[in-house]
Amino acid sequence: MPDVIAETLHELIVATRILANEKVLDAFGHVSVRHPRDPQRYFIPRHRAPELAEMSDLVELTLNSEPVRPIEFRLYSEKVIHGEIYKARPDVNAVCHHHAHTVLPFAISGQQIVPDFHLGAVVGHVPFWDQRDEFGDTNMLVVKPEEGASLARALGPNWMVLMRRHGATVAGTGIRELIFRTVFGSDNCKLLSQAMAMGRVDSLSPGEAKLTSAHQLRPPSTNRAWDYWVRRVEKAGLMPAKGGREASAKSGAASAKRPAPKSAKKSAAKGRSKKRR
Ligand SMILES: [Zn+2]
Repeated sequence: MPDVIAETLHELIVATRILANEKVLDAFGHVSVRHPRDPQRYFIPRHRAPELAEMSDLVELTLNSEPVRPIEFRLYSEKVIHGEIYKARPDVNAVCHHHAHTVLPFAISGQQIVPDFHLGAVVGHVPFWDQRDEFGDTNMLVVKPEEGASLARALGPNWMVLMRRHGATVAGTGIRELIFRTVFGSDNCKLLSQAMAMGRVDSLSPGEAKLTSAHQLRPPSTNRAWDYWVRRVEKAGLMPAKGGREASAKSGAASAKRPAPKSAKKSAAKGRSKKRR
C-alpha cells in the first residue's frame, strides 16, 4: 500500500526542483502542499533556496502558519501566503509564490495578463493585489496573517494573482496541476511580452480559454508535462532521493535538531541579483 504522505512530500520536493530548473524560482520563492490526510495543515520547506531544499527540510504547519512541532531554524517569512490561501480556498491543495522575471513586467506595469496561446489558458483570469492599498508603506513582504488574508481575498475564486511590484502567487487543486499552471503561466507572460513588443496581441476568446484550460488540466496532459519536467530535473542531476519518510513526515521534530547551514543564507543572497545557471 503506497505511503500517501511520503509520496506527497517527495512530489513536493520534485516540484520545487522542477520550478528551479525551469527558471521560475531562483534564490527565492516557495512551494507548499496541503497535508493529504489533515486539511488543517500543510507542508513547506524551511527557509532555503528552493533548488537546495531536501525532504528533511520539510516542515508541517497549521493553517495559521505555526509549526506543529517546535523548530529551531528559520521559516520563510512569507509562509502566511500559503496558510491564508488554504484557509480561504478548501479546493486549493498546492500553492507557489514566485518572482519570475517573465511575470514581473506585468506586476510592475499593471498590464493585464491574458491567455495568449493554448497552454497559457490555464492561468484563467489573473487579478492584481497591491499591498500598498490596505497596508501603506511596507517592506513588500507578506508576513502578517492579515496581509496573507488580503492576498487570498484578491485571488478570490481564481488560480493566479499578480502582486504589484513583487511577483505572483499561483494555486492548484494538486501539485501537478500547480506546476503545469506555474510553468505555462510563466511561458504565457514571456510570449505576451514578446507579442506586445510587436504591437499586436490576439489573445484567446473567453470561450476558447475555458475549453482549452479544461482540456489541458486533465491528467493525461498534466502527467505528460510532469514526466517531461522530471526528466529534465534528472538530466540536470537535481532529482531528490526517495525514501525520506522518517525525516519528512516527522519533519518538525526531525529537522529541528539540524540547524540551517549558514551557507544557505549566503547562497540565497548571492543568487538574488542574477538568475541561477
Ligand atoms: Zn515574495
